[in-house]
Amino acid sequence: SSETEGDEAVQATNDDASVCKRSAVQLGYWNDPFLQYFMRGPIVRKAPEINRGYFARTFGIYKLILKTLEQIATSDVVYIPKGEGNRSRSNSVCETEVQIINLGCGFDTLYWRLKNDRNIRERWSKIRISSFVDVDFPSTTMRKVHYIKNNKALLATLNNDDGEISISKFELNAFDYHIIGTDLRDINQFGSKLANCGVKFDLPTIFLSECVLVYMDTKSSATLLKWISEHFRTSLFVNYEQVNMTDRFAEVMLNNLTMRGCRLAGVEYCKDLATQKNRFLEAGWSGVKAWTMNEVYASIPMKEIERVEAIEMLDEHELLKQLFDHYCIAVAYNDAMTLSLDSVEL
Ligand code: SAM
Repeated sequence: SSETEGDEAVQATNDDASVCKRSAVQLGYWNDPFLQYFMRGPIVRKAPEINRGYFARTFGIYKLILKTLEQIATSDVVYIPKGEGNRSRSNSVCETEVQIINLGCGFDTLYWRLKNDRNIRERWSKIRISSFVDVDFPSTTMRKVHYIKNNKALLATLNNDDGEISISKFELNAFDYHIIGTDLRDINQFGSKLANCGVKFDLPTIFLSECVLVYMDTKSSATLLKWISEHFRTSLFVNYEQVNMTDRFAEVMLNNLTMRGCRLAGVEYCKDLATQKNRFLEAGWSGVKAWTMNEVYASIPMKEIERVEAIEMLDEHELLKQLFDHYCIAVAYNDAMTLSLDSVEL
């Protein structure tokens, strides 16, 4: 394998993210009954700023994914397998199929959260997530596969459709859920593994990368984004990562990571919102929007803000503001099927 020591430090960032998410979930910031199954050891309580930061991140990403599903579900165009063309919804009995591909997934439980979200089933019964694909380094997927294989609650969601599950050391293939172990810098292997697990390039597809691209050298992440843009002509990409990495606060963030042996090889794209947006346009995406986490936080409904702000006292409001100013969500789209993906907003 071409994995290096630096890669190991990058993989360890997943354990860190999982521990932080667990802390926030335990305190009631959001509901995720599945995360606990991917973790061993005691629950660590993180600082209120960290908990709130992870809350905003999880809330923002989930909301944008729901909005994309809603946009696809309510558009007039219905996907019908190749050869039959697109028909208008009124005279079609077909379901709209969508794929979700989670790049650098770590132990993210998004598949289980979406599948068990009653709102989705009730509100948009015509939409079906035909393939959800989790992708990470083999050393991480090996652990994810191991946890799933040994857990009834996780398997129950996979088994819902009576499909067979095939499991190997690094990969898993179920009816609508797949785990791929690969290095995302190896675009040929990534592409062939996607095709092998039944991903269709002509279906509307949502890509997610949550704190992942920044760990890849700029050339590799640019190649990846370009390849996706060229192969998935109806797609939306949600990217969460660092931004405004040019000031004193950013310097401290970077030093902390360096001390843990971790390098943000792709930090060049994190200078500001403009560099984040340009990377997508340069990679051939049709359009892109981006918001700092302060903007994301401001978009959360008042009731929800009141609920989470009552969970813990926060002394350092200024610190949270600064933290939120150094992370962003970008949404890029290609819209060959004219699903009005440009209207997906916070
Ligand atoms: N997305 C998850 C989340 O937010 O909880 C995990 C985030 S963690 C900070 C970064 C993840 O990206 C790790 O699981 C790491 O292994 C993965 N990753 C980074 N570079 C990768 C690469 N070149 N190929 C595959 N996975 C990669």
